[in-house]
Amino acid sequence: ENNIQFIRVSMIFLLICVTTRMHFCISSVPSSLETLPVEGHFNFDEVSHAAKDFGNRYQHHPVAVLHPKSVSDIAVTIKHIWQMGPRSHLTVAAKGHGHSLQGQAQAHRGVVINMESLKGTEMQVHTGNFPYVDASGGELWINILHESLKYGLAPRSWTDYLHLTVGGTLSNAGISGQAFRHGPQISNVQQLEVVTGKGEVVNCSEEHNGELFHSVLGGLGQFGIITQARIILEPAPAMVKWIRVLYSDFTTFARDQEHLISAENTFDYIEGFVIINRTGLLNNWRSSFNPQDPVQASQFNSDGRTLYCLELAKYFNLEETNVLNQEIKNLMSHLSYIPSTLFLSEVTYLEFLDRVHVSEVKLRSKGLWEIAHPWLNLLIPKSKIHKFADEVFGNIVTETSNGPVLIYPINKSKWDNRTSIIIPEEDIFYLVAFLASAVPSSTGPDALEYILTQNKRILEFCEIAHLGVKQYLPYYTTQEEWRTHFGQQWESFQQRKSTYDPLAILAPGQRIFQKAI
Ligand code: FAD
Repeated sequence: ENNIQFIRVSMIFLLICVTTRMHFCISSVPSSLETLPVEGHFNFDEVSHAAKDFGNRYQHHPVAVLHPKSVSDIAVTIKHIWQMGPRSHLTVAAKGHGHSLQGQAQAHRGVVINMESLKGTEMQVHTGNFPYVDASGGELWINILHESLKYGLAPRSWTDYLHLTVGGTLSNAGISGQAFRHGPQISNVQQLEVVTGKGEVVNCSEEHNGELFHSVLGGLGQFGIITQARIILEPAPAMVKWIRVLYSDFTTFARDQEHLISAENTFDYIEGFVIINRTGLLNNWRSSFNPQDPVQASQFNSDGRTLYCLELAKYFNLEETNVLNQEIKNLMSHLSYIPSTLFLSEVTYLEFLDRVHVSEVKLRSKGLWEIAHPWLNLLIPKSKIHKFADEVFGNIVTETSNGPVLIYPINKSKWDNRTSIIIPEEDIFYLVAFLASAVPSSTGPDALEYILTQNKRILEFCEIAHLGVKQYLPYYTTQEEWRTHFGQQWESFQQRKSTYDPLAILAPGQRIFQKAI
């Protein structure tokens, strides 16, 4: 009986030790950060903003948010956590503009670094034969555009939406309609400044610390925090001819898209999207349409049918208008769209690139921006795109898409296989993006559940049919799934992690590695 009593007392003692130690650990976190010599500041109270993102589905609160004023602030913080070793549970997430979808820029009970505070570092545009801009990792692409346009220059590879940070898109890839020609944004960077998971500040490029440079590009924030990037620029055009044409047949649509991305003389931007079940009278479209406005093409009444819209852009300066019109006529003459569905418009280069922001303003005014976004982005090998389209647009996504569905091909030759991004193995692959918004409804069925079920069906089909699909902006919950995602690259991804962030401090919200404590 004495023994049992002894064991009981010991257990209680042990329990008290464990809980108080844990409590000590957690409550001492703010004070240990508070003493760090930073130019910026830590915020320990108002942390809820750092637990939100565009996806609006996951909320993990950090214990602190660092608003860095200098690269050294970031290095000092990470070094401190690195030196505490496995004794500390702290992790660190860089937060760009927080446009992740499933908490990727969050750090549960860790430290979030608000990268936009760092963007105060002056941006520097370098002109000359090989122009470039040095920008902070927390800079928004829209600001880079405004600044470089002052010199008649602009980056050449974009995302569709520009209110995203340099570090945020370079951690993924940065894909838009220019990628077929220039590659993604990660193919258009010459140099980076990075703070590793050990708190070291390292400059890297293809020639210098190349392994770190390639690891970080498309590296999902796993190997270091990008504090600065050197981005290639090109002369900026003044204007854009923006064209949309419609197809009722997927095979013809895809054939034209593939022809255009492979042609020598072609458009500057090539994308496309699917129009699903827009009911109404197809014959009435002329009366409700302004053919000068290509945006209208997305509102085309398809009478319940699925249509495919090819979206093209050609850049030009005003003095080139005549030649350009002839060139466009030539290019269009090789395409097989429905003849009566050519929508053409002329906008400034800035208006064209910042086009999605116009939708953002509209949606915000209706309270439809800050809702759940169960997006699904897939990269699909060209040889499987017809099988995918048959099933997905024929049987799965038939009633409504709850938002745009983008679909366009990209040339693999413009991607660098030394970077960390995972793409399909064929020379051409398609980006298919289901950009759904779950509009809350008090009466109808739960939109979020509906869309998530639909996404699951799409993924299950891809797996069963062995389509060789890779997720873009990937999201998985188990390491097994991550292994499958990376395939043969898993070993080298893991190796890179153990070199640059051995304690797994960085980007815990990606859920790839877990910090050992
Ligand atoms: P965050 O969400 O803040 O961060 C994303 C990830 O990167 C996190 O893991 C974070 O820890 C890490 N990270 C952030 N900053 C850094 C840094 N400086 N160094 C290292 N790691 C960092 N993508 C495309 O490719 N093409 C598109 O056309 C496109 N359009 C989009 C449109 C909208 C409306 C939205 C919401 C997203 C779109 N995206 C697109 C996806 C977008 O590129 C990614 O979600 C990107 O990560 C968002 O950038 P962010 O600055 O908001 O990053």
